[in-house]
Amino acid sequence: MSTLVPLSRRTFTVIRQSSRRGFSTSGSYHSKKHYQLLVVGGGSGGCATAAKFAGRLGKGHVAVIDPSEMHYYQPMWTLVGAGLKTLQASGRPMQSVLPSSCDWIKDRAVKFDPDSCMVTTASGEQIGYDYLVVAMGMQLNYSQIKGLPEAFRVDKSVCSNYWSETVTQTFPALEALQGGNAIFTFPNTPIKCAGAPQKIMYLADHYLRKAGKRDKTNIIYNTSLGVIFGVKKYAERLMDIVKNRNIEVNYRRSLVEVRPDKKEAVFVDLDSPEGRTETYQYSFLHVTPPMSAPDPLRQSSLVNPDGYLDVNKETLQHVKYPNIFGIGDCTSVPTSKTAAAAAAQSGILKKNLQAVMSGGKAQSQYDGYTSCPLLTGNNKCILAEFDFAGQPLETFPIDQGKERRLMYHMKKDFMPELYWNVMLKGNWNGPALTRKMLHLGLSK
Ligand SMILES: Cc1cc2nc3c(=O)[nH]c(=O)nc-3n(C[C@H](O)[C@H](O)[C@H](O)COP(=O)(O)OP(=O)(O)OC[C@H]3O[C@@H](n4cnc5c(N)ncnc54)[C@H](O)[C@@H]3O)c2cc1C
Repeated sequence: MSTLVPLSRRTFTVIRQSSRRGFSTSGSYHSKKHYQLLVVGGGSGGCATAAKFAGRLGKGHVAVIDPSEMHYYQPMWTLVGAGLKTLQASGRPMQSVLPSSCDWIKDRAVKFDPDSCMVTTASGEQIGYDYLVVAMGMQLNYSQIKGLPEAFRVDKSVCSNYWSETVTQTFPALEALQGGNAIFTFPNTPIKCAGAPQKIMYLADHYLRKAGKRDKTNIIYNTSLGVIFGVKKYAERLMDIVKNRNIEVNYRRSLVEVRPDKKEAVFVDLDSPEGRTETYQYSFLHVTPPMSAPDPLRQSSLVNPDGYLDVNKETLQHVKYPNIFGIGDCTSVPTSKTAAAAAAQSGILKKNLQAVMSGGKAQSQYDGYTSCPLLTGNNKCILAEFDFAGQPLETFPIDQGKERRLMYHMKKDFMPELYWNVMLKGNWNGPALTRKMLHLGLSK
């Protein structure tokens, strides 16, 4: 941690250059703590970013603010919901994943004051910075659905893979299911991992067939979107799958209420001008909640009109404050929000933040790379990978739109190792290099 006086030549240089670039860091020197780099959020993007800079800037110069005791590898929650992994296997103590040379401020950021380069925490501490990286992920807004918080408490057939508190309800609910309607929802907001609401549906279908309960169960996918998936190539394959597996898909349907006493789920038809609703009986209900950027960010001056950190989609630099960058789900970057996207962004962010710290310009450009391993059964997976334009950007020189066992094992066995041992240590910038090599240099 640096104090009123810059501690090292490196720190001093940064501050001098910062001022030259037209932003003041002086206000933050009234705070008790001051860091050269402050990262808000220690999830996938924040932890990877801290790891990239902690060693370079030295002990005491990088801090991460995050109140969570545990760091979860959330992509594993699809497998937890399907009974193929445990919640325990998906998490590690936050302390163990953050770089040892960075300070962990175990608190919640509640206020951003970018003009004074200061972040205030829930305990009232004011923390100053020269450079800020915002990596706060998505906020889950379960309470926006009437009756849902209560339904989680009283009805064991209502579950959600999106939260550590509810993901462990999914598989027991599937085991208890004896037939009727099994409903899977997709909300009317941007979400993280847009494939996850349907991945659990295919795994449930697989489980129910194996358990001999599928012929008594109607599987229904009620999605707020007008398509099953945003990228045409993969959407076409998924349409074949839902048809072959006798899954009912209803578009532009958004869950607005759950009535656990009557086992009813109420959906609004988003195309109906008068807000027509439809009520479904459910025997099993998997809810993907509405999401947003976290409230303290949404209430700050750092966001775009949609409430996301307003960054340049290619450089990841804030549009107004050049000493602020963003990574991951809480940003305005118009790509599918995934850990894979955060990994690819982390390499760009590192180059650009380093350039700005040395008085240069943010010039590296993110291409929107994101990936969604669409598990379609207990041993099958379509590995969707694409860019800003929704064009496939596949790593392997094979058709990844086909269901493959190899991709299933990549998702289940290889990716968690890559995450814990390479990405969180700051050494994974996505598969661009591998892709170029495997395509003999002919890919983007
Ligand atoms: C069920 C499910 C399946 C998924 N499947 C995949 C997949 O197959 N592949 C894939 O690539 N991605 C997948 N994802 C998405 C992936 O987990 C996220 O996109 C990724 O974690 C985003 O990283 P992030 O750093 O932006 O946010 P997160 O990893 O969510 O981290 C945000 C951090 O910010 C902290 N925070 C929040 N508010 C504050 C505050 N006020 N102050 C301080 N800290 C705060 C949180 O505690 C958290 O630690 C899945 C997610 C879910 C839930």
